[in-house]
Amino acid sequence: MGGSLAGLLAAHVLAGHADRVTVVERDRFPDGAKPRPGVPQGRHPHVLLQGGQTALESLLPGFLAELREAGAPRVGMPADMVLWQSGRWFRRVPASTHIYTGSRAQLEELVRRRVLANPVISVREGTDVVGFLGDATRVRGVLVRDRSGDTRAESRPLAADLVVDASGSGTKAPQWLAAIGAERPREETIDTGLAYASRVYRGTNGALDGETRGYYAYPDPEQVHAGGALPLEDGSHLVIVSGLRGDEPPTGDDEFVTYAKRLPHPPLHRWLAEAEPLSPAFGHRRTANIRRRHDLPGRPAGFLATGDALCTFNPIYGQGMAVAAMSAVALRDALADRRRTPTTRRVQQALLAASRLAWDISAGADRKMPGAVGTAVDGGPADQVAGWYLSRVQERAPGDPVVGRAFRAVLTLSEPITALFAPPVARAVLFGPPAPTPTEPPAAPEEPGALAQ
Ligand SMILES: Cc1cc2nc3c(=O)[nH]c(=O)nc-3n(C[C@H](O)[C@H](O)[C@H](O)COP(=O)(O)OP(=O)(O)OC[C@H]3O[C@@H](n4cnc5c(N)ncnc54)[C@H](O)[C@@H]3O)c2cc1C
Repeated sequence: MGGSLAGLLAAHVLAGHADRVTVVERDRFPDGAKPRPGVPQGRHPHVLLQGGQTALESLLPGFLAELREAGAPRVGMPADMVLWQSGRWFRRVPASTHIYTGSRAQLEELVRRRVLANPVISVREGTDVVGFLGDATRVRGVLVRDRSGDTRAESRPLAADLVVDASGSGTKAPQWLAAIGAERPREETIDTGLAYASRVYRGTNGALDGETRGYYAYPDPEQVHAGGALPLEDGSHLVIVSGLRGDEPPTGDDEFVTYAKRLPHPPLHRWLAEAEPLSPAFGHRRTANIRRRHDLPGRPAGFLATGDALCTFNPIYGQGMAVAAMSAVALRDALADRRRTPTTRRVQQALLAASRLAWDISAGADRKMPGAVGTAVDGGPADQVAGWYLSRVQERAPGDPVVGRAFRAVLTLSEPITALFAPPVARAVLFGPPAPTPTEPPAAPEEPGALAQ
């Protein structure tokens, strides 16, 4: 169910184990790399983190070279960006990680082209899943309906040995499970009410054309606005501003630019005031963290959830696509493990495990944001200790290259959270004061060798 990133990558893995994999997708896929209605978030920045790059490359060898050839910018962090967090500018020491910042539509199209070339996989485009077949013990397929426009069209059964829900954060699977008598997943939620607005601009003052590829200011409990400009494949920049419930960014022409003044420093506003808009501004307000616990006992066999349908993150941390790819790797590994029968529950547990680090980062940060609501807002005492340690990490990451490297490795999902507790990192975090940081936005990268300082 769903032919976006999570669905395509799950289909790719399952094609190695099934006679036939059918992807049911409500949209008709566009010709080429264009936005489509089923993925409205595609108009907003979509960075591909290191953990997602590794996973995609392992699933589709050669994928990153294809992405680069298609022009997707590969941006070194922190060297290539002007970054601000927790009241500090990051030193622009040599990059310890890279992100891809090209458009979401381009990335999805490249994945789609690779995956759908497999003859085992077929797609039913323009088709809605509208319910499940089966009973409390087993999902046996789905009910589908053509989106031909005829609302009286009958739904038809499509039997399957395994149904995978990759229909995104708005999934109806919990209701459909209940309708066949199966148990719904328990939902954990944390919602900060964060809202986005994004718009494409072409810079006119040259500030983002050379060594500086973009800006980004992260939000925190004291400074709840975020904003940034990230390069796209055609040389333009996708600009995002965000704020919390009650102070959502506007999508009107002038108001969008003025909103950037809420950031605690002027570079983004200054750049925007001179830049040429190339698109309207698009807003997005559904940004809650939602985790659906399909892994608990008593769930029906023959059903798995993956991607955003399993675990949706506050998009400000840029994790969802990476987790979709990492989940496909987890699916591949769970099915290939000859020591254990891949029961539905075991595989679902492996899928959930693939999203755990991203959830800990996103939920951990959002619990501290003012006005956060939801069933999982209250963390236990262990979360409070972790929160105290992580805020010291955040204070030190901008100025201390060793802490910064570990921080980025974890945040980009390429190393486990334990990397933040490695002895040199822990020493700096527990015993040292924060290292000095630039007083002004650094205009150029530091020379190689800075990491040794
Ligand atoms: C504003 C915003 C910004 C984001 N930024 C980033 C970022 O910087 N980096 C990052 O990694 N991630 C980001 N994400 C998350 C990312 O978009 C998702 O995690 C990613 O697309 C994987 O999602 P998915 O495939 O599970 O679901 P989706 O991409 O949401 O796709 C769901 C698919 O299911 C189809 N569908 C839905 N219902 C049905 C149905 N009943 N029948 C048939 N088809 C159906 C839809 O048409 C769609 O194709 C962002 C998300 C948002 C909202």
